Amino acid sequence: MYIFGTDLDNVVADLEQLLKHEHIVELEKTDIAELLLSVVLPVVYPRLPVVPGAKECLRRIKEIPAKIVIVTARSSEDEKLTRDWLEEKGILYDEIHFVGHGGDKSIVTFDCFVDDYPENLEKIKSRKKLLFDKPWNRECNDFPRVYTWDEIYVYVREDARGRV
Ligand SMILES: [Mg+2]
Repeated sequence: MYIFGTDLDNVVADLEQLLKHEHIVELEKTDIAELLLSVVLPVVYPRLPVVPGAKECLRRIKEIPAKIVIVTARSSEDEKLTRDWLEEKGILYDEIHFVGHGGDKSIVTFDCFVDDYPENLEKIKSRKKLLFDKPWNRECNDFPRVYTWDEIYVYVREDARGRV
């Protein structure tokens, strides 16, 4: 079975958009928001939107068929809140791992993994690695860059051809 992995914050959960919307401009162009997440999450979580296309494309990826594994730097203390949010938003997944900030995301070996943070992609064990375009990762040219979930879906569908 093809194993597709994705980061949660700023790939599926649109933290950047939330900060923009709430005019927390100092944070919106950095990844520091993810560091503050355990503090801000309980407050902002009811207003946290889904990244456009993520819900639909995860469903389509699942139908390839593929196993969907979310690996997040959120801590296990946020597990209930996070699972509730995913359910409320209708996001399909088979497994979710909470590794904590700075935690090791290389716990599963993937066919393809998507993250917005190059350091995570460097460490992760995956045959294919995609960098989700964000203002804070524009300096990185080490991974194929994707801008939308439609692009991710097409990439995965092509990569999975003959492997599933
Ligand atoms: Mg992220």
